[in-house]
Amino acid sequence: MKLLPNSLLTYPQVTNYGAEVYVTYDNKVWGNLSPLFAETDAEKELIKKKDKELLEFTKVKKAFVATTPLEPTLMVLDEKVSGVLTYKNNDTFVYLRTNGIIATRLGYRYEIVFAPADCAIFIGVHPDFEGLVALHLGFAQVFMNLHLQTFKLFATLYPTIDLSGFRIFITPYICGRHYYISEERFDYLNRTGVLQSRFSDYVVKKDRKYYVDFVKAAKEELSEKFGITTFYEPGLCTYELAQKDKLFSHKYSKEHKESRKGVFNVIVVTS
Ligand SMILES: [Zn+2]
Repeated sequence: MKLLPNSLLTYPQVTNYGAEVYVTYDNKVWGNLSPLFAETDAEKELIKKKDKELLEFTKVKKAFVATTPLEPTLMVLDEKVSGVLTYKNNDTFVYLRTNGIIATRLGYRYEIVFAPADCAIFIGVHPDFEGLVALHLGFAQVFMNLHLQTFKLFATLYPTIDLSGFRIFITPYICGRHYYISEERFDYLNRTGVLQSRFSDYVVKKDRKYYVDFVKAAKEELSEKFGITTFYEPGLCTYELAQKDKLFSHKYSKEHKESRKGVFNVIVVTS
């Protein structure tokens, strides 16, 4: 991942697959991209101003902005879906509630915008697929198998494509040394009987907390089930960067009782 002078991280390798990925580096500059989050008119105006700057930077006409619910939701963004979603909403920004997107070429350049706070965004590209797969993965989504369901659906839609050819680009996320769930939550999930066995290689118990490396779990499961073994990572932890006032970490913010609901943005441009 390359650091550009204008506070953005990018993956230059992705351009070989007809896409561009940008991670906004300074949440004070770019902030929160969905007006759905805005609590006041002033906030809404600020977001719209930032949106405009973003469009000028990426030079696209349409942006699909994914707000991510807790439910492991998944969508296919193709010409039909795009046609329905943009029929009534002819605005530049189309707001979605989803964690996973299988996006195909739409005949025009467009953005997919995610606003994570600690979660990883997985961007999957493949030489035989004209489009990309984008996933918002936190512990909850990995626990609920969103990553596995997405590639299962992909295999159903494109049965002739060999999934092992996928290249996955991962944006900054909270690492396994900083992400933990409480003993109460762990015990609650463990009662389902699947947590301990499935995550035993990725969980470390320390001071009544369970540290979970959910990205490692997702990567290994994708390798095991689908033969996907190529992952690119920037090696940046949101928790560590939050201490330097760069990016945003939900965990760090909660621990330090900060009131700001910051996020950083991941922008994927495709055509
Ligand atoms: Zn970390």
